[in-house]
Amino acid sequence: MGTAEIPYKIYLDESELPTSWYNMRADMKKKPAPLLNPGTGQPMKAEELEAVFCSELVKQELNNDDAHIAIPQEILDFYKMYRPSPLVRAYFLEKKLDTPAKIYYKFEGNNTSGSHKLNSAIAQAYYAKKQGLKGVTTETGAGQWGTALSMACAFFGLDCKVFMVKVSYEQKPFRREVMRTYGASVTPSPSETTQIGKKILSEHPGTTGSLGCAISEAVDVAVGTEGYRYVLGSVLNQVLLHQSVIGLETKAALDKYGIRPDIIIGCAGGGSNLGGLIAPFMGEKLRGEADYRIIAVEPSSCPSFTRGKYAYDFCDTGRVCPLAKMYTLGCDYIPAPNHAGGLRYHGMSSTLSELYDQGYMEATSVKQTDVFAAAEEFARVEGILPAPESSHAIRVAINEALKCKETGEEKTIVFGLTGTGYFDMVAYEKFHDGQMEDYLPTDEELAKSLDKLPQIG
Ligand SMILES: *Cc1c(COP(=O)(O)O)cnc(C)c1O
Repeated sequence: MGTAEIPYKIYLDESELPTSWYNMRADMKKKPAPLLNPGTGQPMKAEELEAVFCSELVKQELNNDDAHIAIPQEILDFYKMYRPSPLVRAYFLEKKLDTPAKIYYKFEGNNTSGSHKLNSAIAQAYYAKKQGLKGVTTETGAGQWGTALSMACAFFGLDCKVFMVKVSYEQKPFRREVMRTYGASVTPSPSETTQIGKKILSEHPGTTGSLGCAISEAVDVAVGTEGYRYVLGSVLNQVLLHQSVIGLETKAALDKYGIRPDIIIGCAGGGSNLGGLIAPFMGEKLRGEADYRIIAVEPSSCPSFTRGKYAYDFCDTGRVCPLAKMYTLGCDYIPAPNHAGGLRYHGMSSTLSELYDQGYMEATSVKQTDVFAAAEEFARVEGILPAPESSHAIRVAINEALKCKETGEEKTIVFGLTGTGYFDMVAYEKFHDGQMEDYLPTDEELAKSLDKLPQIG
C-alpha cells in the first residue's frame, strides 16, 4: 500500500473502541513478582491491600490470569469524551529528518489533564464510587496525575485529597489551580498534617519533597480516614491494565491499514504509558505470534532500568507501602531536579521490570538537553508542544529514524506522545536561555541508596 493512502491522522470510530482492557500478565509464563508485606515478608493478601486500595482494584492488581477485563459502561462513556486519541503519521517530521523511516505517534494530550493519566484516573474513581467511598487520596509530582484524578473525582462526585511535592506546588501554581477548579484539596508535601510528614520534616528540614515522600503522606491519610482509599497513578499492575486502552487503539488503527511496527518507543517513569502502549504488541510477542523491538526511554538523571538493581524495594520514602520487586535506584534516591517531573520516580512497574529482565524489551537513557532539542524540533514541524516526559520518546524515535537514514531501511516506528507541555514553560525557558544542565548521578551516589535496599530472601 502506498504511503499516500495513509492519512495524517488515523482515527477509529466510536464503535471500534476497545471494550476490554488487556492484561499482559495473563500471557507471561513467568509472572511479575508479588507485592510483599514489609512486616512479614509474605505476599500481600487481598484483605491487607483492601485497607489501602479499593476492592475491585485489588482484584485487578492480583489478577495474573484473565487476559481481557471488560471496561464498565460508565468508563467507556467517559472515554468517548476524549477517545479514541489520534494515531498520527509524522509526515512532516519524516520530511524534516529526510528519513525513509515511517514514524507514527499516539497522542494522549488531547484532554484537559494534558496526559494519558486520565485513562486510569477515571477507572479508579469509578471503582471508588461504586464501592460507596467518600473520597480518595493521592500524591502528585509535576501535577499531571493530580489533575487527571481531580477531573475524574469531580465527574463521580468524590472528594479528592492531593499531596503535591512541595517544589512543584511552589513552582507550578497553575497546575494547582486546575486541580482546585475540579474541587480537589491540594497540600504541599511534606506537610505538618500527617505523622510521616512531620517526621520527614524533622529529619530533613527545608526539604522540597519527593514523590516517595508524598506517597507516604497520602497513604497515611487514606488509611486513617473513614470512607477513603489511596489511589496511585502509575507503577501498579492495575494502572498498566487501564492504560492498555492506548495500545489497543494503536493496534486497531495500524491494523486498519495493515501496518506492522518494527520499533515501539515510550518514555518510562513508573511505566504506565509504556506498559499500556506496548500491551497488545507484547501479548503477541509473549505468545510467539510476532516480534517487535520495544524501547523504554528514561532520563539519565533517574535511570532505574539502565543503572538500577532488580530487587525488592519500598515504593515510598516513608517505607510504609508494600515492597515491590522492580528495577530501582533505592527508595531513598532523590533524583536531581530534572524537568521531566513525571519521570522522577526511583522504581518501575514490576510487570515491565520482569519483562525487561526476561529480555522482552530494551531500555535506554537520554540527557535532558538532548530531550528538549528533540522536543523543539518536533514542535516546529508537527505543531504540538510536547511534555518534557513525552519528549524522551521523541528523542529516541528521532535517533532511530536517523539511523534508518544512514542504512536506508524503511522501518516503521511508533512512539507514545503522552502529553502536552504548556505547564512546563519554565523548563523550556531554561533550555532556550542555555541554562539547562545535564545531571548524571555518579556510581557512588547510586550505590549509596542501593546499599540500603531491604534484604529480602
Ligand atoms: C506521568 C507522565 C509520564 C510518566 O509516567 P508513566 O507512568 O511512566 O507513563 C509520562 N508522560 C506524561 C505526560 C506524564 O504525565
